[in-house]
This record gives sequence, structure tokens and C-alpha cells, in this order.
Amino acid sequence: MKYYSTNKQAPMATLQEAVVKGLAGDRGLYMPERIKQLPSSFFEHIDQMTFQELSYTVADAFFGEDVAADDLRRIVYDTLSFDCPVVQVDDNIYSLELFHGPTLAFKDVGARFMARLLQYFIRQDAGERVNVLVATSGDTGSAVANGFLGVEGIHVYVLYPKGKVSPIQECQFTTLGRNITAIEVDGVFDDCQALVKKAFLDRQLNEHMRLTSANSINVARFLPQAFYYFNAYARMKALGKADNMVMCVPSGNFGNITAGLFGVEMGLPIRRFIAANNANDIFYNYLQTGRYEPKPSKQTLANAMDVGDPSNFARVYDLYGGSHERITSYIGGATYTDDAIRETMRECHARTGYVLDPHGACGYRALREQLRPGEAGVFCETAHPAKFKEKVDEILGIDIAIPDRLAAFMKGQKQSVAMTREFDDFKAFLLKE
Ligand SMILES: *Cc1c(COP(=O)(O)O)cnc(C)c1O
Repeated sequence: MKYYSTNKQAPMATLQEAVVKGLAGDRGLYMPERIKQLPSSFFEHIDQMTFQELSYTVADAFFGEDVAADDLRRIVYDTLSFDCPVVQVDDNIYSLELFHGPTLAFKDVGARFMARLLQYFIRQDAGERVNVLVATSGDTGSAVANGFLGVEGIHVYVLYPKGKVSPIQECQFTTLGRNITAIEVDGVFDDCQALVKKAFLDRQLNEHMRLTSANSINVARFLPQAFYYFNAYARMKALGKADNMVMCVPSGNFGNITAGLFGVEMGLPIRRFIAANNANDIFYNYLQTGRYEPKPSKQTLANAMDVGDPSNFARVYDLYGGSHERITSYIGGATYTDDAIRETMRECHARTGYVLDPHGACGYRALREQLRPGEAGVFCETAHPAKFKEKVDEILGIDIAIPDRLAAFMKGQKQSVAMTREFDDFKAFLLKE
């Protein structure tokens, strides 16, 4: 399968090229040239398949031409070492819990898949070690570091701003050791990102070592997110609730929801999608007006969705041929202030006992407001509420338990390399690696 760029100015890429490059040369996002339909027999029996089995069928449609079947099966099964269950929260409202992975957020699925696919390609061409550079303001670093942990042939350098990430976030990438090196930069997030960008452009460094990024727009992180939409459908079908199913996705950069829309193109019978935004309402406004107007991002309670210019809008736009009419016929919108998020978390907890995190709260609320008679709604619970313990405890007046796998990170020994924000220092360090 070939991949084209949404900007249509770069040459087509193979899967391997698209995965190693991340972004196309014209700065567009890679899209598969074809989206394969899955047969109706698959959907008839999907409720009898496990999450891993049905995900392999979906993975085969995307990647089967480029990855040997046994290897692809192993990559899928290793990636999905945890479940993404559907849990009833309210009348006709269900939570697709995407937080049972190692770092308690849905990004684990894409990061784990990408690590294993990259390893597969390195083995294929018997190449030298690949080095992943990633700058993080908190959450990306933990998902990528844990996704790549122990994957042979790959070393990950996580650059993070000293004193600017929460202790819970920091321990998730500084205590791992093995093939993960945490680099504590004396600066802000933008300094970390600038160091990474300069490294990719530095000829001497690139001759010294193979460098790649694990950006969230990478096709190997983005497409596997379709797996759990098929799982949501399968589990709802088993409950007899799949006939009029609506999916609601708390959205920031729109990678997650776009993977679900790809699922629909493959035949997944989901009626419609709702993109739930926090106060960063660029996509919501686009739905209303047909005009896409990026804005600087606003800081909110649901901070992983604080995005003022969602990168994957380019993919949504491309998928529907730029037609506002088609986009609005598949996708609805919602936008919520921090006050509305707090109120929703309290109301849901008081009435149902379910603890929402601030991101999932946007999804739950949009379903409460927009579900029509006869429909059943599933929202993505994109992170475990304990990841935002201080906020959640304060809003709900509870003391939420920290899951064991998160507590285990917090007991680990912090290991990091102190770094200035000067590129020469960073380069000198890498040249000695
Ligand atoms: C990344 C993230 C989101 C937003 O997902 P997109 O794919 O960027 O739309 C929502 N919730 C949580 C908890 C996240 O980490």
C-alpha cells in the first residue's frame, strides 16, 4: 500500500517510509491510498471475536500488504496486552475505557503499535539501531517511552522541561531505564522541541546515528486507534445495542476520532460521530460556519485537548473531499467550558457513581445532550481519572485510588541526564552515544 500526503506535493511513500518519516516532505499528513472494505460476514460475527482477533482483521486491511501475516499478528497481540472494555454508565450511555494500558491513556495503543512496527522494519533491513527523539510537555513522553520500552533495536530519548511536568508524569518516563533515556532540559517545552527539530536537520548527527520521531501524526500511531472502535461495536452488538450506535470522542488533535472515521469507511456500522471539545472550539466553529480558523490554544481542565490548530483536521478534510456538507453529515460537535466539565463530573458521579476524567466528561455530556430516541451512545474515556488525581479529588471531594501500575512508577528511582537548552551541548551528548 502506498501513502500520499494531504498536501499532494510530496511523492507517494511506502509504509516504511511513512512510519520512519512521520510527516511528508511537503509537511502534509500521510494517508493510505485505499481504505479496504471489510466483508459483511465479519460484522455479523464480530461479537464472537476477542478484541485481539478482530483487531488483527482490521490491521490486516491496513497493513497486510506490507507486513508478513505472522509478524503482524504478533505485533497486534503484543500491542493489545490490555483490554478496552465497554462499561455501562447511564441509560443508553456507555464508556469505552481506553485507560487500561501502561500509562493509563488511549495513546498507549498507538505508541505500542508503532514501536513494534518500527522494530519489524529494522529487522527486515538488518539496519543499525534507530533512535527516537521525542519532546514532551508530559503525556506524550510517557506513552512513547512505555510503548518502546524493551523493544530491541530502538533507543528513545525523551526531552522534557525541568520542573514543568507533574511528578506523576515525570516518573512515567524517568524511572524506566533500559532503552529509555530521559533528558531534563533546563528550559521550557519549546526549548525541548527546538532541540529535537535541530537534531533532525543536523547532517553530522544524522551521519552518526539513525534518528526518527514518534509524533502523534505518524500513521503507525494513528491508524491502530481504529481497533477499539470495532471493539466498541462488537461489545455493543453482544448487548443488543449496536443497531443505532453513536460514538462520541473527546478531541484535541483529532487523531483519535479520525481513526474511528476510517473504521466507518471500512464498513463499521456506526451511525454518526460527535467530536466533544473543551473551550478550544475550532472544529466546533468549523461545523457551524464551514470556516476553519485556527486560534492560539486556551488552557483548560481537559488539558490534553488544548489544541488551537488540530493537525488531523487535514485528514478529516481529505477523507471527505473537503465537503463541509459531508463532514457535518457524519460528525456533530460540542464545546464545554471548565465549569461545564466540573458540573458534568459531579452530576455523573452523584447520580451513577461513575468517575469521569475531565476529558471523558466532555464526551459523556455531549451524549447526554445530543442522543436521540432509539440511539445508544458510547463515549471514549480517554484517560484514567487518577491521572488527574488532584483535579478529580478536588472536584468530586473523593480520594481516588491510584492504580497499581501507576503507583509502581512512583516507587521507581528517577534517572535523567541534565541538559542545557544549547543545541551544541545536546549534539555533543548524542555524538558520544
Ligand atoms: C491526547 C488526548 C486527547 C485528544 O486526542 P486527539 O487524538 O488529539 O484528539 C483526549 N484525551 C486525552 C486524555 C488525551 O491524552
